[in-house]
Amino acid sequence: MAKAPVLTPRADDFPRWYQDLINKAELADNGPVRGTMVIRPYGYGLWERMQAEMDARIKETGTQNAYFPLLIPQSYLAREADHVEGFAPELAVVTHGGGKELEEPAVVRPTSEMIVNDYFSKWVQSYRDLPLLINQWANVVRWELRPRLFLRTSEFLWQEGHTAHATYEDARDFAAHIHRRVYEDFMVNVLAMDVVPGRKTVKERFAGAINTLTLEGMMGDGKALQMATSHELGQNFAKAFHTSYLSKEGTQELVWQTSWGSTTRMIGALVMMHGDDDGLRVPPRLAQIQVVVLAIKGDEAVLAAVRELGDRLRAAGVRVRVDDRTDVPFGRRAVDWELKGVPVRVEIGPRDLENGTAMVARRIPGGKEPVAVDRLVELVPGMLEEDQALLLRQSRERRESRTTEVSTAEEAVEAAVSGGWARIPWATLGEEGEARLAEHAVTVRCLVAEDGSVPDDGDAPGNVAVVARAY
Ligand code: AMP
Repeated sequence: MAKAPVLTPRADDFPRWYQDLINKAELADNGPVRGTMVIRPYGYGLWERMQAEMDARIKETGTQNAYFPLLIPQSYLAREADHVEGFAPELAVVTHGGGKELEEPAVVRPTSEMIVNDYFSKWVQSYRDLPLLINQWANVVRWELRPRLFLRTSEFLWQEGHTAHATYEDARDFAAHIHRRVYEDFMVNVLAMDVVPGRKTVKERFAGAINTLTLEGMMGDGKALQMATSHELGQNFAKAFHTSYLSKEGTQELVWQTSWGSTTRMIGALVMMHGDDDGLRVPPRLAQIQVVVLAIKGDEAVLAAVRELGDRLRAAGVRVRVDDRTDVPFGRRAVDWELKGVPVRVEIGPRDLENGTAMVARRIPGGKEPVAVDRLVELVPGMLEEDQALLLRQSRERRESRTTEVSTAEEAVEAAVSGGWARIPWATLGEEGEARLAEHAVTVRCLVAEDGSVPDDGDAPGNVAVVARAY
């Protein structure tokens, strides 16, 4: 008998499947105010692991964490014209406090460039104060009209980096370093995600930036998701906030700046890139639970065996959970761990104990087989490495098989609408072609150089536009 599907199959209705999975794997719930979200412990655990991995990489660049206020005086926003124009439609504004109308309304930060730069202008005096490298872990609010759990919520959690440098080159190199050595490295090596690093077109740039670098991922349905961005801000904010320094030569110079952010959207990407009809599949290097050891029945010998195996795996450095909740039917627990995407499930019952074996179920490649209990500690690390590599390979194969080389805007639209990506020479498409794509809700996700590297110049000959529908 075929088992009844736990989730709406992906092929039937991808958005429904996504919602179902988030709900059944207990990642998040909708909040009471439209667009907000309650992140449940299992979802928040994924975020904590992301934070730990990212934070270590960010600190390696010499960046330090700080914290700035949630509320920003409304007048600050008006200082950088492009920035205010870009964010105005998404702002939440506080007009009352303590029962009275405020003299000056306060904006709930949609991002912190304004307030950070106000302080940078105080902190930066001389070339000795540079580079100034700051990151904050925080929540921000953007009043999204079409919210979707994790991918686009009105309040989201993120890290935002803000830096000031003495020269254009130094700022440019730092933005690129964050893009490739922090974000791409994390996504490829921890999230096991194939991502395309590239440069945004002028149309898709961040409000107030002179260049936006992006990482684009292909989701299970062939649509694109912008995974994180790193911006060169040039001197736009330095001019607006008068952030200048006394150079070695004794002249006053404006600083050059960057900002960069990655958010809880990455959890949505994890679902849509690695999930299948049975639930989530969490890459082992990210997983807060890499192995779950289940007691099939509640007899003493079985409970002792699962606890002992749990201890041995933990001692070997594996992140392990012992599931000895034998008052919950075994089948339900097994389905639940499958939904949650724990890479390795070890099941032990009385009969297994007699044989000295355990059933090992592999969530990522699939399949189940008996393994000698004594060999598990030695075998598990290899299984986890295999799983990590398999997820990355599958995501890369999906992108490669669903990407077509095209030579007209019409062909690019056709490829995108039918659930794939198109690559087209930027010299052929151009801004005029980019505008035509927009009529079909198709966008240029990024520009890449012919050899796949990130172009320094958006209009360099040989640049290729990667085109898709996006979340
Ligand atoms: P930005 O400051 O606009 O460059 O945004 C930084 C990153 O945040 C983007 O690259 C997106 O991946 C992500 N992002 C933007 N809007 C949202 C949202 N409403 N919910 C979750 N993530 C978002």
